Amino acid sequence: MSNTVNWKDLVLPHILNLQAYSSARDEFSGDAKVFLDANENPFDEEQQNWNRYPDPLQMGIKQQLSKIKGIASENIFLGNGSDEAIDLLFRIFCKGGDSNVITCPPTYGMYKVSSSIHNVANIEVPLTKDFQLDVAAILKATNEKSKMLFICSPNNPTGNSLRKDDIETLLENFRGIVIIDEAYIDFSAQESFIHKLKSYPNLVVLQTLSKAWGMASARLGMAFANPELINILNKVKPPYNISGPSQKLVEKSLRQSDVFLRQIKGILAERDSLNQQLQDIPGVKKVFDTDANFILVKIDEAKTIYKKLINKGIVVRDRSNVKLCYDCLRITVGTSTENKTLISALRDISI
Ligand SMILES: *Cc1c(COP(=O)(O)O)cnc(C)c1O
Repeated sequence: MSNTVNWKDLVLPHILNLQAYSSARDEFSGDAKVFLDANENPFDEEQQNWNRYPDPLQMGIKQQLSKIKGIASENIFLGNGSDEAIDLLFRIFCKGGDSNVITCPPTYGMYKVSSSIHNVANIEVPLTKDFQLDVAAILKATNEKSKMLFICSPNNPTGNSLRKDDIETLLENFRGIVIIDEAYIDFSAQESFIHKLKSYPNLVVLQTLSKAWGMASARLGMAFANPELINILNKVKPPYNISGPSQKLVEKSLRQSDVFLRQIKGILAERDSLNQQLQDIPGVKKVFDTDANFILVKIDEAKTIYKKLINKGIVVRDRSNVKLCYDCLRITVGTSTENKTLISALRDISI
């Protein structure tokens, strides 16, 4: 079965007709002796090309990602964090004061903030008690103004992966764009949906270098989608959305992917041991299964514990007011030393 919605019909007409800005780098990108086309300062004190505008389409990074991910460059968009891709998707598909999107809380907060920024209604269809998608309720809540559905898997802040079958049912039946946020996929044994782009033209997969890849500071988010949609994203984005220093740093780091693979293995081992130790802390009611690099913990007096940890110089995320996460803290897996510090602090506090 395949979805009968034509994703292109969902693109706002003024975006479809948009004449993209043509930058100096777009009009000429090759080798030349003298560049006098972009009003740059000609002096390059550090010999790093910092005086020059960066590649607007970041082809160097895309070629590396293409090999690492096994997907063509034409399926890849790069943004200033995933948050930029989310913002652009709203601009492309949603009409302020008219469209709506569907989100499934508890989940990543940015979908809701971005919908508010664009004056787009956010229809919330909560996850079930075991933190899975309520497929029937999502389809029931959908109407002709529902343009996008956000699915976060592994989900933040709960940590679990959402069932593949449920996601596929939604890809086949939701008559809009389905965005699967895979920010934590590198910590999970689940298969990524990036290899299903051909089957689902209405699919956008988001990933990021901010978590497993250790480059939160570089601000590099990826969106994977059909090539025509990638072109539209490129047309709408600011021309030089990834800075030159970030592009250099990312290219260098991606060449050392073995380092990150080793770090991920270490983080997963630490996660298992932290998980075990948390279960033995008095007051802990539940340590939720996780496919990410954080653990959701239900604990008596979560807010008080949160404050006491801060007094000891340890910051975790207080999720105790979040629906379905009452009395929960979200704890990022740190280094072995950091995790030991956390556990001994929790033992002190809970006595
Ligand atoms: C951390 C996170 C991101 C990453 O955002 P960036 O802007 O790429 O740093 C995206 N989605 C989710 C669910 C996250 O938790």
